[in-house]
Amino acid sequence: MATLHQDPCKKNKTKTSHKICAAAMCNNRSENRPDLTYHKFPSDPETSRRWEILMRRGDQKFKSVENKYCCSEHFVPSDYRISLTGHRKDLKTGAIPSVFP
Ligand SMILES: [Zn+2]
Repeated sequence: MATLHQDPCKKNKTKTSHKICAAAMCNNRSENRPDLTYHKFPSDPETSRRWEILMRRGDQKFKSVENKYCCSEHFVPSDYRISLTGHRKDLKTGAIPSVFP
């Protein structure tokens, strides 16, 4: 019989607030580099595929990862749209990561 005990850890659902940069050679994550912006992969499959290749993550396994991010270290300032407030960092449509140290 299954126990009806509630696991107190599961109270606040599965919070996915932490973001990890998916680039193969990058260890940045929101926990250790909260100063960076983590960009979700583009919805356009072609651009998304280019990101994967550039980040050396073109493997099959990576395709099944749901929330993929690329940190702002891989983009140059010209990849960003300048917002009116200057606070938000928005990537231009079709921008691809190009900085891989
Ligand atoms: Zn990164």
